[in-house]
Amino acid sequence: MSYDLLFRGGRIVDGSGLPPYMGDIALKDGKIVEIGRIHGGAVKTINVDGLVVAPGFIDHHTHMDGQIQWDPYATSEPEHGITSIVMGNCGLALAPVKTGDEEALIKSFVRVEAIPRSVLEQGVRWGWHSYGDYLDRLEGRLGINVAGLVGHIAVRQYVLGDASTERAATTEEVQRMKQLVREAMEGGAIGFSTNRNDRHMREDGKPVPSRLAEDEEVFQLCDALGELNAGVIQINEGQTKIAKHFALYDHVARRTQRPIVWQILRYIASRPNLWKEQLDAVAAIFQSGQRAYGACSTMPTVRRFTLKNTQVFDEFPTWKNVLCMPIDARRQALADPETRRRFRADFTDPRPTLFHRRWEFVKVEKVVKSENEKFTGKSVAEVGAMCGEDPLDAFLNLALGEDLETAFQNANSGGDQQAMAEILRSPHVLIGNSDAGAHVQYGAQFGYGSTLLGLWVREREVMSLELAVHKLTFEVASVYGLAGRGLLQPGYAADLAIFDPGKIQSCEPEWAQDYPGGTKRLIQRALGMHYTVVNGRVICEDGRLSGDLPGQVLRTPAYKGQSVAVGA
Ligand SMILES: [Zn+2]
Repeated sequence: MSYDLLFRGGRIVDGSGLPPYMGDIALKDGKIVEIGRIHGGAVKTINVDGLVVAPGFIDHHTHMDGQIQWDPYATSEPEHGITSIVMGNCGLALAPVKTGDEEALIKSFVRVEAIPRSVLEQGVRWGWHSYGDYLDRLEGRLGINVAGLVGHIAVRQYVLGDASTERAATTEEVQRMKQLVREAMEGGAIGFSTNRNDRHMREDGKPVPSRLAEDEEVFQLCDALGELNAGVIQINEGQTKIAKHFALYDHVARRTQRPIVWQILRYIASRPNLWKEQLDAVAAIFQSGQRAYGACSTMPTVRRFTLKNTQVFDEFPTWKNVLCMPIDARRQALADPETRRRFRADFTDPRPTLFHRRWEFVKVEKVVKSENEKFTGKSVAEVGAMCGEDPLDAFLNLALGEDLETAFQNANSGGDQQAMAEILRSPHVLIGNSDAGAHVQYGAQFGYGSTLLGLWVREREVMSLELAVHKLTFEVASVYGLAGRGLLQPGYAADLAIFDPGKIQSCEPEWAQDYPGGTKRLIQRALGMHYTVVNGRVICEDGRLSGDLPGQVLRTPAYKGQSVAVGA
C-alpha cells in the first residue's frame, strides 16, 4: 500500500494516557491508517527520530468567531500543535443573526472580548442568518478544524431584539429561543454557551443580553441539547459563588445529562482557597454521576494594560466610570483628589473581587519617558516607595505624566505551584482556557499546551507526558463529542502534533500587525513544535504555515446536513 505521508521513528503518545512506545505512523486520505513498524512506501516520508508524535491538540475555549473569517489558521494556534478549535464560548457568537442586528452582536465582542471594533467591521463578512449557514460558509476555507457553540447572547438578541438587554423573556420567547438552539445544533453546532457573568457588558455599557436571563430560561435552552442527546453546555457565571453556581451546574447536568464545562477553576491570589472549594464542590457532582468540568488555564495570567485601554478595574464602579470616559475627561478625573478618594473607597468594598487590590502584583512593563526608566520592571508598590507616595497616587501620577501610555502588567492567577499541580491533575478539570481571539491587545495564551508540556511536565514534573497529552486531546474530544479525533488509532482523523519533548515551550507574547487594517495584536510562538498536521496534511512546520487548507467544520451527530436559513 502506498501512503500519502509517513512519519518514521517517532515516540507515539497516543492520547489514551497509556505509556509511549516507538513506532511509525502512516496517513492516507486524511486518516491514520497504520501505526507500528510500517513496510510500505509513501508519497512523502519524514524522519521524526527523537520526537513525540501525539494527536493534535484541541483548544476548546476560543473566541475565534471573527478571526477565523480572515485567518483560516486561527494563528497562533497551529504554532502550538493545535489542530482543532472550539469557538462561540461565553454566550458570544456571530449567529444566528437577523439582518440589521449585526451591530448589536459586535457590541458584545468589542467590550467583553476586547476585540477592536475596526477589526470586526473590516474582517467579518456578514451575510448569514442561521448558525448552520454561518458554519457552512467556513467549509473549504479552513486551515485548522473548527467547531462552534451557539451563543445565548446571539439567540436572545435574535428573539428579543433591543429588549434583550433590558428584561426577562416571556414563556413564548423562551420557546422560540429554544427552537433556535435546536436549529443551530441541527445545523452543526457542537453545543450551547451561556454567560451571566456580572462583569460582562457591551460596548454601550448595557449588560450582555444573556445576563437578563432567569434560571428557567437557561434551563429551557439547555433542555434543547438534552432532547437531542447531543452537545456540550458551556457556562460562564462569573466569579464563582460556590453554593449557587454549583447547584446550577448540578441541576443542568442532571436534567439534560449533557456534559457541562464551566469557567473558571484556578488559583487566584485574591481568593487563595477558592480552587479547593471548587474542586470539592465539583467532585460531589461527579460522584453523583453527572459531569461538570471546570476549565483551567496552565499559564499564570498576566494582563498588559494602560490607563487608555484596560478592563482590570471594571468591577469597581468609580474606576469603571472613569476609565470609560473620553480621554480628556479621564485625564482630569484621574488627577482629581476627590476621584482618587472614591477610587480608594471602591477598594474597601468587602465583596470578593477578581482584582486583588495588591499593588505588589501590578508591575510597570514599559515607560514612555527616559527619566521614568528606573521604574521599568518595578511593582507599583515599589514605585510608591521610590517616590515617597502612596502606591495609588504613584500609579496614577506615573501614567498621567506619560499621557496614559505607560504599560503595566497585572498578575493574578496561577502563581501557587502546589495548587496548580493539584488542579491540573484533577480528572474533573479540563485544561485549556486560551481565550484565543479575545483580549488581543492585553495578552496571548495560545501556548497553554506548550506551557503544560514544557513548564508543568518537563520542568516541574507534576504529571507524566502521556497524561498531559491525554488531557490536551482525547479528554477534550470526548467531552465535546468530537468523534474520531483525539487518539492515534487507525481510522481516526490524521490530526497530529509532533514535538521535541526536551525543548517544547511557549515564547513570550509578541506584537504583530496582522489583523485587518494592520491593527496590532499579541501573538505567541512556540519552541520545539515541529509539525502540525490537520486531516493528513502539514499546516505548520517549525513555526511556518504551509498555505494548505485541509481544515473542516466539526459537527455533532445532531447535524442534519446543509442548513436552511431560518426566517429573518
Ligand atoms: Zn470566554
